[in-house]
Amino acid sequence: MLARLVRRFSPATLIAYGGWALLALVLLGGTLISLHQSRNAQIKAVLARAGAGSAAIEQTMLRAFEALQTLQTLAQTRLQLVDTGNSDGIQAIDAQLKDTVLRHRFGIRDALIVRRGWPDWSSETGHLDHPLDPSVTNAPPEGADGMRLDSPTMSSPGGAGGAADAWLFKTTWPLRDQSGAPAGWLIVWIDPLAWSEMIRPLTSGPGAISMVQRRSDGAFLARTVNPRMAMREHPLTTDPAFARAVREGSGTMQDSSGGVDRLIGFRAPPNVPIVISQSFDTEMSLADFTRLRRIVLAVVGVLVIGALVGTRLILSNYLLRRRLGEQAMLDPLTGLFNRRFFTDIMSRRFQIARRSGLSAAVLLVDLDGFKQVNDTRGHPVGDALLRQVAERLSHCVGADDVALRLGGDEFAIVRLCHQQRRDATALARFIVSALSKIYEVDGYHLRISASVGVALYPAGGEQLNDLLRSADIALYFVKADGGDAYRIFDPAMEETVRTRRALEIDLREALVRNQLEVYFQPLVQLEPRRVCGFEALLRWHHPVLGMVMPGRFIPIAEETGLIASIGEWVLRQACREATNWPPNTRIAVNLSPVQFERSDIVDIVASILRETRLSPGRLELEITEGVVMRDIGDVLATMRRLQGLGVRLALDDFGTGYSSLSYLRSFPFDKVKIDASFLADLHGDGGTIIRAVLGLCGHLHLDTLVEGVETEEQLHWLRNEGCTEVQGHLFSPPRPAGGVNEIIANVAARIPGLPARTMVRS
Ligand code: C2E
Ligand code: MG
Ligand code: MG
Repeated sequence: MLARLVRRFSPATLIAYGGWALLALVLLGGTLISLHQSRNAQIKAVLARAGAGSAAIEQTMLRAFEALQTLQTLAQTRLQLVDTGNSDGIQAIDAQLKDTVLRHRFGIRDALIVRRGWPDWSSETGHLDHPLDPSVTNAPPEGADGMRLDSPTMSSPGGAGGAADAWLFKTTWPLRDQSGAPAGWLIVWIDPLAWSEMIRPLTSGPGAISMVQRRSDGAFLARTVNPRMAMREHPLTTDPAFARAVREGSGTMQDSSGGVDRLIGFRAPPNVPIVISQSFDTEMSLADFTRLRRIVLAVVGVLVIGALVGTRLILSNYLLRRRLGEQAMLDPLTGLFNRRFFTDIMSRRFQIARRSGLSAAVLLVDLDGFKQVNDTRGHPVGDALLRQVAERLSHCVGADDVALRLGGDEFAIVRLCHQQRRDATALARFIVSALSKIYEVDGYHLRISASVGVALYPAGGEQLNDLLRSADIALYFVKADGGDAYRIFDPAMEETVRTRRALEIDLREALVRNQLEVYFQPLVQLEPRRVCGFEALLRWHHPVLGMVMPGRFIPIAEETGLIASIGEWVLRQACREATNWPPNTRIAVNLSPVQFERSDIVDIVASILRETRLSPGRLELEITEGVVMRDIGDVLATMRRLQGLGVRLALDDFGTGYSSLSYLRSFPFDKVKIDASFLADLHGDGGTIIRAVLGLCGHLHLDTLVEGVETEEQLHWLRNEGCTEVQGHLFSPPRPAGGVNEIIANVAARIPGLPARTMVRS
C-alpha cells in the first residue's frame, strides 16, 4: 500500500506533501494542545468560581443556623424561667422570641415551644391558630440532644404549618431544664422557598444552580432552579457530587452523571446537617472558549487547506511542466530520448566520465533495409518495427547507458565504460546481432540488419560534435561495406572521407567543366553473333586524379542528388550517339534508383527521345533491384509508362543482393542481366545458378545477358546453355564513342573459336 503510494508519486511530490503534512500536523497539534491547556485553565477558573459561590452560600446558611440556635437558647431560657416561675423574665423573653420569628429572618415562619409534653409558647404568627397536631407536640426529637431536620412537606389547611400551598420544613431542637435534663423541644418551621430566594442573589453565572440539601439523604431544602418542583423531587443520594461532598466536606469537581456536564463547588459544614453546592453548566461556561476554539480551528484549517491547495497547484504546475519537458525530450514513437536530449545527455555523461575517470563511447545505429520495409509494407508496419527495434536496443544497453532515437531509423547509444574498446566492441556486436534477428510485425516476418558506427572518447574527439562526426564516419564505412556490421572510428577513415568530400566538391563542377564522358561497351548477341547494342558507361576525367570510375563517383552523385542532372546528361549523350549507329543497334543506359524514383523520369525519357529522334525501341533502360524493392505500386506504374513509350527495361546485376526470382515474374522486364560474379564458379554453384536463371528466363520469354564475360570458355559454356547475349572484355571493354564502329566491325569479322587476345582492347 505504502509502496504503491510511493511509486505513484514522484519524489518531489512526496517531499512536498510529506513536508506539508508534517507542518500541518505540528501546527494542528500545537493548536490543539494550547487549546486543551486553555480549556483546562478555563475549567479551573469556573470551578474556583463555583467553589467561591458555594462558600458564600455556606456563610449565609451558617448565619441561618446561628439564628435558629439563638431561638433555641431563648426557648431554653424561657423553659427554665417557667420552671422557676419568673414571670417578668418570661415576658421579656417572649418579646425577643416573637421579634426573632416575626422578622422572618432566614425563612423562619413559625416556632413552637413544647414543655414537658405541652405547647407552652407559640410565635402566633397565625400559623398556629389551629389545634396542634398531636404528632408535633408528642414526637420527640430524633436524638435526645441533637436537632432534627425534616424534609419539606406541603402544608395543608388544618395541618401543621397553617396556610395552604406552602412548602415548609420543620427543625426540632431539644430543650433542657436547669439540671440539664431533657424537658421539651423547640419546633421551628422554615420556608424552603425563602431559603431558595436567600441563596439566589449568591447564584449567578452560565447555567448556575445552587442547592442546599439535607445531609442524611440529599432532600432538597433550597434550590435556585425550580425550587417548588425541587421539593417534590426524589433526593439523589447517588449523585456523585453529593456523595463526594458528604465524604470530603468541601471541594470542586466536574461531573456529567446527570446528562449535562457540570462544574461543581460544594461545601458540607461540619456542625450543620446540610450540604451546599453551586454548579455551572460546563458547556455554557465554556461557550466563549468553544467559540474561540471553533474560530482558531477554522483559521488553522483554512490555513492548512489553503497551503495544501496552494502547494498542490504549485506542485502540479511544476510536475506538469516537468512532464512536458520530459515529453519534449522523448521520442513519441519509441519512448526513447530524442535528438533534443542528445546534446544534454552527452555533455552530462562526459562530465561524469571526466570526474570518475571513466571512458565514454558513442554508438550510432542505422538500420539497413528499413526504408524498403517502410515503403513496401506501409508506415504502420514501419512504426511498429521501429518500436521493436527500440525495445531491443533498450534491452541491449546497461543501466548507465542511454539510448536515443535521433530520427528516422537512426539511433544512438551513449555508454560509460571502463574497458572502453572492449566494452564498446562487445555492445556494438551485441546490437548488430540482436537487431538482425527476425521481427514479427502484423503477421509479417521481417528481417533487417543494423550498421553501427562507434566513436570512443576522447580518442574519437574531445568535443561532442567531433565525437558524433567520428561515429558518423565509422557508420558511413559500415554502410559502404554493405551494412550489418560495426566499425570503430579510426583517424585513417577521416582521410578517406576527406578525399571523398573533395571528390564531391569536384563532381559538382564536373558536368559544366566537360570532365564527363560516356563510354560504350558492346552487347553481343550470340545466335547469330553480332553487336546488338552498347551499354553507356560513364567516365570522369578528373584534372588531378585522372580517370575516375563510376563505382567511385556514382554513389556520391546519388547521395548529393547530382545524379539527376548527370543521369539526364548521360541519357541524352547516349541517345544522340546511338542515332549514328546501325538502326538495329540498341543503346542501354543505366538508371539510378534515385532517378527512377523521381516523378519526372518518364517525361525526361520521352523528351530526350523526341529531341534526339531515337526510335524508342532502341533504348534499353537498366535498373537494379534496388528500384524493384521500393513501393511496388509506384514502381510498376513507372515501368509500364516507360514501356508505353516503347522503351525496353532490363534488370541489371541480377544475382547480387536479394535477387528474388519472383521479381522476374512480378515486374515487366524485357531482359535480365546476370551479374558477372557467377562466372568465376562456372563448374560449381555459379554455373548452376546461371543455368537456372537462364532456364527460367527462357520460360518467361525474357532476353538474357551475362555480364563480365572474359574468356572463350565462358562464352562457349554460355552459348551451350542458351544465353542470348553477353557483354565483357572478351569482346571489348567500354570505349569512347569514336570506337563504336571499329568494335562493330571487329565483332562481325571475328571467326568463332578464335582466342580472345585477337579481340580489340582499349
Ligand atoms: P553495370 O551497369 O553492371 O556495368 C557493367 C560494369 O561491368 C561496367 O563497369 C563495366 O566496365 C564492367 N565490365 C564489363 N565487362 C567486364 C569484364 O569483362 N570484366 C570486368 N571485370 N568488368 C567488366 P563500370 O563502367 O565501372 O561501371 C560500374 C557501374 O557503374 C555500372 O555497372 C553501373 O551500375 C554504374 N554506372 C556506370 N555508368 C553509369 C551511368 O551513366 N549511370 C548510372 N546510374 N550508373 C552507371
Ligand atoms: Mg548496367
Ligand atoms: Mg551490371
